[in-house]
Amino acid sequence: MAGRLANKTALITGGNSGIGLSTARLFVAEGARVAITGRNQQTLDEVANELSHGVLAIKADATDVDALDAAVAATVGKFGRLDALFANAGIGGTTPLGGTTLKAFEEVIRTNLTAVFFTVQAAAPHLNDNASVILNGSVHTALGMPGYAAYAATKAGVTGMSRVFASELAPRGIRVNVVAPGATRTPIWKGAAPTPEAMQALDARVSSTSPLGRMGEPDEVAKTVLFLASDDSSNVNATEIFVDGGMLGARMGWAIFRG
Ligand code: NDP
Repeated sequence: MAGRLANKTALITGGNSGIGLSTARLFVAEGARVAITGRNQQTLDEVANELSHGVLAIKADATDVDALDAAVAATVGKFGRLDALFANAGIGGTTPLGGTTLKAFEEVIRTNLTAVFFTVQAAAPHLNDNASVILNGSVHTALGMPGYAAYAATKAGVTGMSRVFASELAPRGIRVNVVAPGATRTPIWKGAAPTPEAMQALDARVSSTSPLGRMGEPDEVAKTVLFLASDDSSNVNATEIFVDGGMLGARMGWAIFRG
C-alpha cells in the first residue's frame, strides 16, 4: 500500500479515543499496519471494525506492566518488529493543593508517567533500527494552570524522559520526540465539562487563551505525529513540538490583549 507509512508497523496506546484514534485512522490511511490499545473493549471493537484493514485492537491497561508486555508481544507476533510507537494513553484529573488524596495524585502519575516509561521499555527491544518513538506531552509543562500539579508534573516528566530515551536509543538510530498538544477537542474533557453547555463555556474560555482563537482538533495533533513517525522527520530528534495554536509561545496574541 502506498503512503507516507507504507510497509511500516505502529503501536498506539490509547488508540480507541481522541488523539490516539485520529492518529490510528491517519496511520492506516498512510499505509501502516497499526495496533492500538485501551481498556474499553467496546470502543476497541468499534475502532477495529471501522478501520478493519488488519488493525489489531488489544485490551491492555497501560499501568499493568505484564499487559504492556503482552500487547507488544501480540503486535510483534502479528506484524513483525515495530517502526513507530506512539505512547499516547493518558488521563486528565485535577489535584488541587489542599484537596487531593495520595490515591488521586498517584493515579495520574502512574498513568501518565510511569506507564509511559514501561510502554517504551516493553517496546524497545522490538523496535527496528531507525524507528520513531513519539510521546504525548502537553502545554501543561509550562502553563502553571491551577489545580493541575500532578498532570503538569507527569507531562514535564515525559519531556525529560524523552531526552533520556533519545540518548539511550541513539546507538540504534531510533528517534524519540514529544508532541505537546494545547487544548484539543477530545473526550478527555468530559470530566471537566460533562454537559454540552459546560463544554461550550469551556471552549469559549480556552479559545480566548489561544492566539488562533479556538481549541485544537485531534486531527491536527495526528498530522504532527505522522510527521514525527515518518521519514519526513528523519533528522528531528529529542525535541518537543507544540500543537497549541501559539497558546504558550504568543501569549500577547490572546483575545484579551487585542484591544
Ligand atoms: P481521550 O480521553 O479521548 O483518550 C485517552 C486514551 O487513553 C483513551 O484511548 C483511553 O482508553 C486511554 N487510556 C487512558 N488510561 C489508560 C490506561 N490506564 N491504559 C490504557 N489506555 C488508557 O483523551 P485524549 O485523546 O485527549 O488524550 C490522549 C493524550 O493526549 C493523553 O496523554 C493526554 O494527556 C494528551 N493531551 C490531551 C490534550 C487535550 O486537550 N485533549 C492536551 C494535551 C495533551 P480507555 O479509556 O479505553 O482506557
